[in-house]
Amino acid sequence: MTSRVFRAHGEFCATHPWEVIVATLTLTACMFTMDQQHATQQPKPVSSRYCAGCINEAEYNAADVIVMTLIRCLAVLYSYYQFRNLHKLGSKYILGIAGLFTVFSSFVFTTTVLNILRIDVTELKDAMFFFLLLIDLSKAAVLAQFALNASNQEEVRINIARGMALLGPTITLDTIVETLVIGVGTLSGVHRLEMLSCFACLSVLVNYIVFMTFYPACLSLILELSRTTNLYDKKSCSFISVFKEEDKSNPVVQRVKLIMSAGLMLVHAHSRWPFKEVDVDNIAPLVDQHMPQNRTDDAALHGYIMKWVTLSADHIVILILLLALVVKFIFFENKEELVEQLRASISENNSEVQMKKQRKFHSSMQLLKPTSTFFLSKSQLNNSTEDIAFEDKEVQTHSRCESDVESSSPEDDTALRACRSLDECKSIYDSDSGASELTDEEIIMLVRSKHIANYQIEKAIEDPERGVGIRRKILASDGNFLRAMSDLPYKNYDYKKVMGACCENVIGYMPVPVGFAGPLNLDDKKLFVPMATTEGCLVASTNRGCSALLAGGITSRIVGDGMTRGPAVRFPCLARASAAKKWMEAPDNFALMKQKFDGTSRFARLTRVLVKIAGRHLYIRFEATTGDAMGMNMLSKGTEMSLKFIKKDYFPDMEILSLSGNFCTDKKAAAVNWIEGRGKSVVCEAVIPAKTVTSVLKTSVHALVDVNNSKNMIGSAIAGSIGGFNAHAANLVTAIYIATGQDPAQNVGSSNCMTLMEPWGETGDDLYITCTMPSIEIGTVGGGTVLPAQAACLEMLGVKGAHPDTPGENANQLARIVCGTVLAGELSLMAALTAGHLVKSHLRHNRSTTTIPANIGALLPPSQAN
Ligand code: NAP
Repeated sequence: MTSRVFRAHGEFCATHPWEVIVATLTLTACMFTMDQQHATQQPKPVSSRYCAGCINEAEYNAADVIVMTLIRCLAVLYSYYQFRNLHKLGSKYILGIAGLFTVFSSFVFTTTVLNILRIDVTELKDAMFFFLLLIDLSKAAVLAQFALNASNQEEVRINIARGMALLGPTITLDTIVETLVIGVGTLSGVHRLEMLSCFACLSVLVNYIVFMTFYPACLSLILELSRTTNLYDKKSCSFISVFKEEDKSNPVVQRVKLIMSAGLMLVHAHSRWPFKEVDVDNIAPLVDQHMPQNRTDDAALHGYIMKWVTLSADHIVILILLLALVVKFIFFENKEELVEQLRASISENNSEVQMKKQRKFHSSMQLLKPTSTFFLSKSQLNNSTEDIAFEDKEVQTHSRCESDVESSSPEDDTALRACRSLDECKSIYDSDSGASELTDEEIIMLVRSKHIANYQIEKAIEDPERGVGIRRKILASDGNFLRAMSDLPYKNYDYKKVMGACCENVIGYMPVPVGFAGPLNLDDKKLFVPMATTEGCLVASTNRGCSALLAGGITSRIVGDGMTRGPAVRFPCLARASAAKKWMEAPDNFALMKQKFDGTSRFARLTRVLVKIAGRHLYIRFEATTGDAMGMNMLSKGTEMSLKFIKKDYFPDMEILSLSGNFCTDKKAAAVNWIEGRGKSVVCEAVIPAKTVTSVLKTSVHALVDVNNSKNMIGSAIAGSIGGFNAHAANLVTAIYIATGQDPAQNVGSSNCMTLMEPWGETGDDLYITCTMPSIEIGTVGGGTVLPAQAACLEMLGVKGAHPDTPGENANQLARIVCGTVLAGELSLMAALTAGHLVKSHLRHNRSTTTIPANIGALLPPSQAN
């Protein structure tokens, strides 16, 4: 509700900027004039006297000087800190807008202090330091970022309204709390403290009023004007997401603030109600003593000026502090950022010129296209080619001139080096120094001019992370992905393990949440199973399954092991194809083939060939154990060697059509894997006592068995399923595959599973469940298992890498874990379906709670709305 009010307010300010600005200025001016009139008619108003009365020269003693000096120093340091934070955002607009906000607020504050409190001009210094101490530029910057994130004026308005909706309630509450807390100081009875508290309260209020009125209107106006002159600063965009998250108000803090405000209201009401009569007569002499008798008196004015100008000890301290900060900022802090900014702008310019060149080239090519109606004259042709040549020169000159001050190598960011021409860069690249000697922009130039292949940047510069960074820069400018790139991480990743093994054209890595289910009691071992998934509910559900299985445990067995590769070959006629089939199926010939196959690896061992004929085609399914590796590459290598041997020595008329003839079958649904098995064939069983079925799974054995038959058997048969006689085996398989660096596309065959349930025990009250998975394609060596995060998950399960004694034992154990986890997942989901909890739990865990209708219970059948 409050957010909506602030959103509407923000929208109003942004859509009527002139009106709001003029109204704020008019009000400020009115206040100024009214107060002067007031002053002439009634020189000593009660309120002003009360505060002015606080000013007592006698109290301005040594302690006061020290306290005030400290406060001033704090104010200077705080302003510096705020300025630095804003500067780090790298946007001159945000700095400018925040500066404008400060200047205008200071103006209103000064006007108010001078004309309403009517203090001495010399006291304004203290007031100003308080003002600086209490001004919060970060909120102003956040609102500016919201506005700058828009791509058109309409969006600016919407974003300002969104920003106000987000910031408004927090700022309002903060203002109330601050005013009330500081306001307690005005009740202290100590005049000096009362005066300072007055300043502070006023600072808070002025800041709030300006932020809520003048500032959003001004922001909208500035952006409208700057957009028309194309001054929009792209750089600020990338920060919006960060601030959006950070600025969501914490409801607990908000509640605490509300409670505090209520308490402080009581304190203030108690102290001020009924309003205490201010002893005018007592205060008046103090005011009279302090206030100048004649404001227009030149001598007095001169006195004030002298007071402002004269330096006292505290002034000297602040001056030194200010100078030190300026020196620190200019000489010790700014350099790195300056270099970064220069680098970014140079990169931008370079890509602009490159794009310009490409456009020019394309348009020239269009002109050069001969058509029946239009032919270019020789001079036109020359002009076009000259233009291209000119653009080429322009690129070179440009890169030399624009990059005069540049350094992009991460190790070299202190040196500002002149950017070199394309020819110079080429010769450096071809020399012994190599591409690592070049700056990012120079390398980009070489990539764009096709001297370095985009996919080989890392290799060329021998620095994977830097190479990935350069590729991102190229992609960001070519594909206009600058903003998107900022959310895709790429730093601090071991790309050496990726290059040439796991991925090409790398631009970063994908963080996926990893949860754990467990302990999973598998073959009397308690395991915690890592699962990488974005499906809410999945880990929670598997965890429940693990709980139900904890007491009885799961028993697993490997019943088959053999990775497969099934090439397609062709013969001149059926007779030759049939003869070859017979030859391959003969045990002696199989031994010859095996010898060739096994010679390609220390671990791959050919165990079988299954040959199918189709006309004059043969499909030969090579099957082999592959140790701890999943084995696809190993199979390809061995199969190729065997085929070459058969062709060379026995069937020269055999045409090898494809090393993979889809009879493998890899990553596609196929009955052959379901029937013959592929990779590891695993079966798991468990018995769950009736008590656990009712207490943990909230259902009955009878209902579970009934639903399992109806759904996983009859339902899947009706659907014509191949290997899909389960509830959601693929969920568990894929989550474990991603976490442990398996080839996730192999979830297709690996998820083949039949889940069976029976009533168990003498009375038939317990539940017997099995999961049969004939084709789990899995390994703990090779592929993505070498990557650090994936290897960590394998280590959690005690199966990282190759088994030290028995090759293949780690891969077998991982396959058992997959099957055991599938069993836990099947049990829990089947129970949820049986008890009717599925929709409800998904709505609770798989969606933001705010989107769940409060009456969800009413939407579900009675059995689900427990
Ligand atoms: P691989 O990394 O290509 O080969 C495994 C390597 O590990 C071999 O060099 C093997 O030695 C060595 N090794 C060391 N200790 C071992 C042990 N205890 N057991 C087994 N090998 C051991 O892995 P792969 O499993 O064959 O292939 C997996 C990769 O293939 C994955 O990246 C996957 O995405 C990809 N893939 C390829 C295809 C394809 O058609 N080629 C299809 C699907 C997936 P040796 O040299 O002595 O054998």
